[in-house]
Amino acid sequence: MPDAKSGSQAVHGVQTPLLNYIDNAWQKSQTNELLDVTNPATAEVLTQVPLSSADEVHQAATAAATALQEWRRTPPVERIQYLFKLKYLLEENLDDIARAITLECGKTLDEAKGEMRRAIENVEVACGIPTLMQGTNLEDIATGIDEFMIRQPVGVCAAIAPFNFPGMITFWFLPYAIACGNTYIVKPSEKVPITMQKVFQLLEQTGLPKGVVNLVNGGRETVDAILTHPEIRAISFVGATATAKAIYAKAAANGKRVQCQGGAKNPLIILPDADPQFTVNATAESAFGCAGQRCLAASLAFTVGEAQQWFTEAISDTATDRVVGNGLEDGVEMGPVITSESKTRIEGLIQAGADEGAQILVDGRHPSVPGGENGNFLRPTVLGNLNPKGEIAGTEIFGPVLGLIHVETIDDAIALVNGGRYGNMACLFTGSGASARKFRYEAEIGNIGINIGVAAPMAFFPFSGWKDSFFGDLHGQSWDAVDFFTQKKVVVERWA
Ligand code: NAD
Repeated sequence: MPDAKSGSQAVHGVQTPLLNYIDNAWQKSQTNELLDVTNPATAEVLTQVPLSSADEVHQAATAAATALQEWRRTPPVERIQYLFKLKYLLEENLDDIARAITLECGKTLDEAKGEMRRAIENVEVACGIPTLMQGTNLEDIATGIDEFMIRQPVGVCAAIAPFNFPGMITFWFLPYAIACGNTYIVKPSEKVPITMQKVFQLLEQTGLPKGVVNLVNGGRETVDAILTHPEIRAISFVGATATAKAIYAKAAANGKRVQCQGGAKNPLIILPDADPQFTVNATAESAFGCAGQRCLAASLAFTVGEAQQWFTEAISDTATDRVVGNGLEDGVEMGPVITSESKTRIEGLIQAGADEGAQILVDGRHPSVPGGENGNFLRPTVLGNLNPKGEIAGTEIFGPVLGLIHVETIDDAIALVNGGRYGNMACLFTGSGASARKFRYEAEIGNIGINIGVAAPMAFFPFSGWKDSFFGDLHGQSWDAVDFFTQKKVVVERWA
């Protein structure tokens, strides 16, 4: 647990200012630069987060590099014992962590619990490393000569995480990295750093050796220090496309292995033969769940032919009825967006959509949310007849706003899907297997849903963004994670 002697105060089960965790010690950051961490539902200041210096990144990288020597020699079957412990600690503390997610990120408690279930699944999959990390071999590649491919850890690796899943996203990487014998540094989003503080309290309880996992809080300068540090060999980033692109270039220029997941503008296609009620419910959950702040949130709905009328009416009613409020309260279906700046930006984009010719069918701006006067609340918004060639049809809004575009055929809809710059997710709602196959085959998108509103890959599949939603070769989770966190060594062997 964090050291009370650090001079910090405990609030919400964590110290304030928040501490770094380096070489198995909770440390007060040397920096004087602190940011407030606020509850988006109330504007209450929950704690403060330090913007750690390059020197603190250096301390973490040095600790991780030292730990690597023993950790990579620890048998995989022993390494995963810590992950088994972590799984049970996460299960036992799921409610507490979920509450922290809701407090700092705003999503509902059910959404926060669902997020942590996805995190735990990744720990479970990484427990299979003794099998997953095996290499290959072939006897007699020539007479009396054998060849082996062995997987070895890459070294010190780091994750840089976004605000919208304060718990889950680090788990797309960390369990696989350490199970493969790497050592690790996490830099959480400075907007939501409390959750990782709690996760690291649990990692500490697993008894992992010194320096195997490290937590460095911070912002851009902290990230820059990670991108340029010579001991850090591989970087996993998740965040906005502009940041992802810049981080990909800088990390690669510094000789690092890098995977960067970026932003999205996810379309759904609604065919006339779709089940109306099911489709509308799934769309509403996708577009307005987590206040539209999922990288897999539906942002556009392309209605085909006769689907336009029933879908437009029903999604407008559902958007109007959604219960908005503090995510800690029972019955609330949608919490606030992350910051007041975000709220203002989203309101501006709604207006920009209208200025480009859209009809605001449901206007979620300036809502009245009892008790939420200081919160960053919006209500679900539906923009009808959005201009498919306008700016807003191609802009990631990252808020509870769904734009409707009507087309005549599935081919028109797929052409719009493929014309977008992002490739994170697209979904089709239909009763036709032939339409489903055509869409699955032709859509230039990495995560596809058929009669699914949020096509989030399970931990045993890669999270497969394409185009401007991903920079790199190997994705997070599953086999891709094993490939990313290992380097292949080939041995050709002959004994006389
Ligand atoms: P962000 O890019 O602003 O921040 C992500 C991380 O990068 C944070 O840790 C932040 O401290 C750091 N950062 C930000 N700007 C930086 C800079 N200029 N230099 C160095 N570091 C910088 O993203 P966000 O607002 O926290 O998250 C929302 C975005 O993440 C959305 O675009 C969303 O689509 C995307 N996202 C994508 C996925 C995916 O799987 N593709 C998943 C979740 C979120």
